[in-house]
Amino acid sequence: MLAREKIRLFVDAPLGEGKRVALTKAQAHYLFGVMRLTEGARLALFNGVDGEWSAEVAEARKRAGTLACLGQAAPQLGPPDLWLMFAPIKKARTDFIVEKAAEMGAARILPVLTEFTNAERVKVDRLQAHAVEAAEQCGGTFVPPVAAPQKLAALLDGWPEERRILFADEALAEGSSGHPSLFASADGTNNRDAPWAILIGPEGGFSPAERQRLRALDSARPVRLGPRILRADTAAVAALTLWQSTLGDW
Ligand code: SAM
Repeated sequence: MLAREKIRLFVDAPLGEGKRVALTKAQAHYLFGVMRLTEGARLALFNGVDGEWSAEVAEARKRAGTLACLGQAAPQLGPPDLWLMFAPIKKARTDFIVEKAAEMGAARILPVLTEFTNAERVKVDRLQAHAVEAAEQCGGTFVPPVAAPQKLAALLDGWPEERRILFADEALAEGSSGHPSLFASADGTNNRDAPWAILIGPEGGFSPAERQRLRALDSARPVRLGPRILRADTAAVAALTLWQSTLGDW
């Protein structure tokens, strides 16, 4: 393996021995205009499937360029099978949630529309770009896909039984301390081997009907994130931390 380079770029192209990658206008601007790289400079490339590759600038032009792969610098490392489902909130806070989910090791990010969701239009491309940027800066080789927003009720209608839900339920904040164990299921199976999803509600919280439906699901674990009501973005980070440190790859 070659040493890892500091400047990292996500590319939508196959990487491997002898592969060359053509840059988009925006990538050429970033590498040559902002980072001031010139021909012969080295950087790291990843595409979400082939691991990280060291590459050098073979051709640098103002609005285009070519990179040449030199050798692999890190293997492909996927996150655990954990989805983050959250109700979109204000733009900057939604961006924050996506950025943190990519850094903290979510495998998929799903904006969900709940009864009390009150957000501007969700721009999936923008959110996906945030996930790419987060992976570039945190040294990850995987970029979680961001799904198009969908209604929570419809998502639950087709819910795969085997996927557990860590349901962050703010109604539990006032209750007693602690939260249910994430390890063991009611049927005694080990949750460590199961796929999971975290669910975070909007500023207005979950409606009584949503809470009732979620609490009745065998796959859902209503979880208390402490005695204080957290903002949704804080709750997303807290739930990711709780899950990753209990069942994940931390
Ligand atoms: N408006 C709601 C209220 O006053 O009860 C609060 C909603 S909170 C800002 C947004 C989301 O974060 C909640 O729907 C829940 O998923 C999560 N959350 C916040 N604090 C929590 C806590 N202490 N325990 C569990 N979930 C929490």
